[in-house]
Amino acid sequence: NNDVWNKIDDLPYFVDNKIRFSNAVQSLKARLVSERSTALDSNVKTILEAHYSLLDDEEFIQNITSKMTNELSIAKAMHSAYLHYQNIFAGSTNLYLQQRVIDIQDLIIQLINIIYDNVIDTTIKLSEPTIIMTKELTPSVFLSLDKNLLKGLVLFSASSTSHTAILARSFDIPTVSDIDGFEDINFNVLGDNKSCSIIDGNRGLVLLNPSNEIINYYTIEVKEAYTFQKQNLEYSNLEPVTLDNHRVELVANVATNVEVERAITYGALGVGLFRSEFIFMDRHSAPTEDEQFAIYQDALIKANGLPVIVRLLDIGGDKPLDYLNIAKEENPFLGYRAVRFYPEYIEIFKTQVKALLRASFYGNLWIMVPMIATATEMQWVQNEVLILKNELLAKNIQINSNIPLGTMIEVPSTAFAIEDIAKSTDFFSIGTNDLAQYFFAAERGNHKVSHLANVMHPAFIRLLQQIVSKCNQLKKFVGMCGEMAGDIDCLPLLVGLGLNELSMSIPVIPSIKYNLSKLNYTKCCELVLEACKCSTSTQVKQLLDVFNAVNINQEQKLLSDSLILLDSNADSKHLAIKEVVSLLKGSGRTNTMDEIEESLWLREDTYATGIGYGVAIPHCKTSVVSHSSVCLIKLNNPIAWGSIDNEPVRFIISLIIKEDNGGDNTHLLLIAKLSRNLMKEDFRNSLFNCKTSTEILELLNFLNN
Ligand code: PEP
Ligand code: MG
Repeated sequence: NNDVWNKIDDLPYFVDNKIRFSNAVQSLKARLVSERSTALDSNVKTILEAHYSLLDDEEFIQNITSKMTNELSIAKAMHSAYLHYQNIFAGSTNLYLQQRVIDIQDLIIQLINIIYDNVIDTTIKLSEPTIIMTKELTPSVFLSLDKNLLKGLVLFSASSTSHTAILARSFDIPTVSDIDGFEDINFNVLGDNKSCSIIDGNRGLVLLNPSNEIINYYTIEVKEAYTFQKQNLEYSNLEPVTLDNHRVELVANVATNVEVERAITYGALGVGLFRSEFIFMDRHSAPTEDEQFAIYQDALIKANGLPVIVRLLDIGGDKPLDYLNIAKEENPFLGYRAVRFYPEYIEIFKTQVKALLRASFYGNLWIMVPMIATATEMQWVQNEVLILKNELLAKNIQINSNIPLGTMIEVPSTAFAIEDIAKSTDFFSIGTNDLAQYFFAAERGNHKVSHLANVMHPAFIRLLQQIVSKCNQLKKFVGMCGEMAGDIDCLPLLVGLGLNELSMSIPVIPSIKYNLSKLNYTKCCELVLEACKCSTSTQVKQLLDVFNAVNINQEQKLLSDSLILLDSNADSKHLAIKEVVSLLKGSGRTNTMDEIEESLWLREDTYATGIGYGVAIPHCKTSVVSHSSVCLIKLNNPIAWGSIDNEPVRFIISLIIKEDNGGDNTHLLLIAKLSRNLMKEDFRNSLFNCKTSTEILELLNFLNN
């Protein structure tokens, strides 16, 4: 990047500096408009729009032109303006603003290139699969790259909120950003250009010139990712109904319009919670009506007729916006938050509602109000929305005539005022995150007390039952959009409660769909009655574990065909353990592979689990497996394990035990049973000679008893 600025030193001064500059701005604007109109990705569109509005910003343009004096070339004037902004933004504590410097650099270089006939060559031509590692990369250079050849991106100085990192996510390019001390990295290890590097965007790892063992490890991981993607695709196409045809709408929680497309690909039947406050954050002033309109309109168009529930601004209290100047409070969670500040900040409220009403014409919009505590608050909102609707209609602005207006149930008082609130409400949605915090008087972000706000506590289940049955009785649609709605273990309870809709984070939708398809509604209703009779959350959890094991995981016995690998090429202990975890993932028993892998290694690091005779029994207890499991791997080539008899291991029997309560000793009993049999030579020979998984299942069937 320093080279870039070196090139401007000798560029000429023109007497008509200002005219040339103004022409260049106009032609760059025209280019951005044309690029935006052909862009397919909405992130690309948004970023091009952001660049356009910077060129439209009088202060920005004025800053550059004011520097075009004293025979300073346009290029130098622009560089000086760039340094000015760099100084301001670099000093900002706001990470988002810091990242805008690269956008300014991007625009300035494009302008210089228009004026001085492409004097700065920023193009990068890729001719083969490539990973780019650079201090920073401007969005326009990123967009010009051939994405089929771009396999990974390392942005040492940029953060994950930089526009280039956002674009990279949109294009599914594995990216690692914000790496300290990159100056010390020895790139010489890369050697000739045939070397390989691995960019692990999930874990934030850059592996230069990795060993074969690491390459093999990631080969397994890539295979796993493909299997998972395929499985998700299958599940995402399922109808959201139980075995006895009871339907529950499964929808997504999003924070941006950009996520809507992804939500629908994952099988969401709409958006159950659009947290609109994200549009208001990381800025100096509130977004304008037009800015908001464009975002809501885009979300509605992407949802293609499916409902999109936008929650009105939920800010204040612990999430202040600097530009609102809300005074600091003693108890922000009990303070001036969400619906409570709308009357004072009426313009912000009205601007948002008007933007929403205008956007409603483009799809199926529902509006939801956060933090309602009394019926009076809801009446106020309903009345204001009606006035604004009439105002827009009087101006002949087209709006949808039927926009459901809903109440979030987050404050316990609401649960006891449903009948009154229902008079000014079309639907309800339970925000369990806040409802649990206020119900148990335990702050959600305070680790010392947050465990008390346990949504599996019978008192909370009874509260939910009361809310949902009241809504059902009044024939009001009732959904849930707190974290509980996406908790797969709780699903039978949520179905049995009679919720019409569950709104959750996007990645969990496919597996929730799958589990829903295995449930029986009547049985779920019976389960709720049982849960309400419990005294502790542990009892409810046990009830759910048994119910899930019987109803959903019924095929998932301790041993299963999908947990057997008969021809593993693993050539090290690391790879063998990776394959164990991969079997669990492939059979749908876990999504949290790293945690299980770590637990297995924790045991191995204390004492190796090779028990002699060429067999190892790596084992662990974990809460992140759906069901206790035994994974069996027959190795093509024996590997060193650190066994008591020093014999290389040819067969792995791995025990992954579901951690239910501390005293459980299932793994010890299983190890004892296995060891007793493995001491017999006949048994070992039969095991090593098994050719099919059916033979292995038969031989080890005794573990099931
Ligand atoms: C909730 O409180 O459950 C909720 C969905 O809102 P948030 O988590 O955004 O406060
Ligand atoms: Mg909330």
